[in-house]
Amino acid sequence: MNTYDVIVVGAGNGGLVAATEVAKAGLKTLLLEKHNLPGGCATSFVRGRFEFEPSLHELCSESSSPKLTSVSDLFRDLGVDVPLVYEDTLFRAIVRGEDGYDVVLKAGKEAFLDSMEAAVPGCRASVEAFLDLIEPIDDAQIDMNENGLNPVKLFKEHGDFLRAASHSADELMAELGVPEDAQHLLNTYWGYLGVPTDELNGLHYLSMLVSYIYGHPSMPKYRSHEISLGLIKAFQSYGGEVRYNSEVTRFLYNGKHECIGVVAGGKVLYAKKIISNVIPNNVFNRSDNRHISPRSRKLANARKMGMSVATVYLGLDCTMEELGVTDYSVFVMKDKEPRTQYNERQNFGFYIVNCLNKVLPDCTPAGTCTLFFTAPFFPGDLPEDLTPETYKKFKNDFAEKHIRDYEQVMAMSIIPHIEEISIATPVTFARYLGTPGGTIYGYASEGWDNIIARTALKDMDYDTKNLYFCGGHYIRGDGYPSGYLTGHMAAEEVIEALKEGK
Ligand SMILES: Cc1cc2nc3c(=O)[nH]c(=O)nc-3n(C[C@H](O)[C@H](O)[C@H](O)COP(=O)(O)OP(=O)(O)OC[C@H]3O[C@@H](n4cnc5c(N)ncnc54)[C@H](O)[C@@H]3O)c2cc1C
Repeated sequence: MNTYDVIVVGAGNGGLVAATEVAKAGLKTLLLEKHNLPGGCATSFVRGRFEFEPSLHELCSESSSPKLTSVSDLFRDLGVDVPLVYEDTLFRAIVRGEDGYDVVLKAGKEAFLDSMEAAVPGCRASVEAFLDLIEPIDDAQIDMNENGLNPVKLFKEHGDFLRAASHSADELMAELGVPEDAQHLLNTYWGYLGVPTDELNGLHYLSMLVSYIYGHPSMPKYRSHEISLGLIKAFQSYGGEVRYNSEVTRFLYNGKHECIGVVAGGKVLYAKKIISNVIPNNVFNRSDNRHISPRSRKLANARKMGMSVATVYLGLDCTMEELGVTDYSVFVMKDKEPRTQYNERQNFGFYIVNCLNKVLPDCTPAGTCTLFFTAPFFPGDLPEDLTPETYKKFKNDFAEKHIRDYEQVMAMSIIPHIEEISIATPVTFARYLGTPGGTIYGYASEGWDNIIARTALKDMDYDTKNLYFCGGHYIRGDGYPSGYLTGHMAAEEVIEALKEGK
C-alpha cells in the first residue's frame, strides 16, 4: 500500500535532514528525488582526473551561540559522521583601484579583530561592539525558540533585538560608529545572502558573519557530496525509503484543501504529512489552484526570486604553489560599496575565486589543483536574446572574461594550465534544481520579505494543512545551514503534530 506517515519531496539539504529526522522518530517515511542521487546543490561532479565541488565555498557549521542548534549539533544527533576541515582565514578581499585594498581577514574573534584593526586602524572597538550585538539577538532567539513569539515579552525583555530588527546591516554598523572602510570590509560576505547591505536585514547578516568568524568556515574532505551521502545513509539506517528518478509532478488534496499525497513517476502516493524541499511556486504549479489559499498564491507571486550565479570550474595541470595561489577564498570587487558591486555586477562588480587545495591539499591528483569562479546573476541578467545556438558562446565568453581578469588582478598565468573546464550558468541551475530562473537562494531576502518578517508570519504564510516546507527558499533564507536547519524545523513540527494526532 502506497501510504506513509511522511513524504519528503526533494533530497536537497533541507529534505535530507527533514527525512532523516522524521525517520529517526520512527515514522514511516518516503523521500522522493527527481535525480539519481541525493544532495541538490550539495553534490559533486567529475571531469577527467578531477572531482569538483559544485557549490560549497565554505560551510558555516557552528551557530553564533552554543544555545542555538548548529549544523554540527544536527549531524551529531542524526548520527552523520562527516569530518570537517576548518579554515583559519575567512577571505582575502581585493578592491581594485587607487583607493582600493587587498586584505586577508582571519577567523576567530580575536584574530578577526586584530586583522580588522591592522587593515583599518582605530576600528577595533566599534567592530567589536557590532559583533557583540549578537548576544542580545541570540538571547531573543533562544527565548522565542523556548517560549514562542510573544511581542509583549520581546518589548519588555529584548529591546535591543527589536531596535536592531528593523535596520539594514549598513544602518546598524553606522549607528555603532564603525568607520566606513571597516564597514566595507565587514560587508564582503553580502553576496552569500544575495542582497546588498543597504537593504539586507542587519540581524540576518550579523548572525551569518559571526557564525563564520567564531565557528570558522569549514569544508568536508570529500566535497559536499560526502555530507549528502552521510545523511542518506543515516536516513536509510532509520528505516527510511528513498526513491530516486522520482520527480513529483502533482500534489494531491482532499475536499477540505488538505494535502494528502503526491504523484511521482506515475504512481499515486499518500501520506499524513508532506514536507516539500521544493520552492512553493513549483508546488503550486503542480497543484489544483483551488486548494491553494489566495494569501499563499499572492505571496508566491509577490516575492522576488533570489540570486543565481554563473560558475567556472577549472582543473589545472600545475600545483597551487606553481600558480602562485596563497589563499582559499578571494573576493575580487570593483568598488568598496556593495550597492555599486551589485549595480556593476555585469562588469566585474564582484566575483569569488576558490582554490580547494589550500584547505584540502590532496583534493586533486599530485601535481594539479582546481580553481572555482563564482559571479552573481540576478533575475533579468541573462541576455534577452540568448538562444540554444548562442548559449555556448555566452558561457565561454563569461569564463574567458573572468579567467583573464583574474590572471591580470593576481599577475598569474592560468589559461595555459587548463586541463578541464566546466561552466554552469543560471540555465544549468534551473535545469538541475528546477528552480525559477535558476535561483540558488530561493526568494530574495530583502525589504518586506526579510528573515524577521518571514519568521513572524510563518504560520499565516504557509497555511495549507499537512503541507510543510524547508530549504533555502524557506524562512531562514539561503545557504547550507539554513537548508539543514529548516529541515530540522519542519521535522520537529511534523513529529509534534503527528504525536498530537493533528
Ligand atoms: C554555486 C553555488 C555556490 C554556493 N555556495 C554556498 C556556500 O558557500 N555556502 C552556503 O551556505 N551556501 C551556498 N550555496 C547555496 C546552497 O547550496 C543552497 O542554499 C542550499 O543547498 C539549498 O538547499 P535546499 O534544501 O533548498 O535544496 P536544493 O539544493 O535546492 O535541492 C532541492 C532538491 O529537490 C529536488 N527536486 C526539485 N524538484 C523536484 C520534484 N518536483 N520532485 C522531486 N525532487 C525535486 C532537486 O533535484 C534537489 O535535489 C551555493 C549554491 C550554489 C549553486
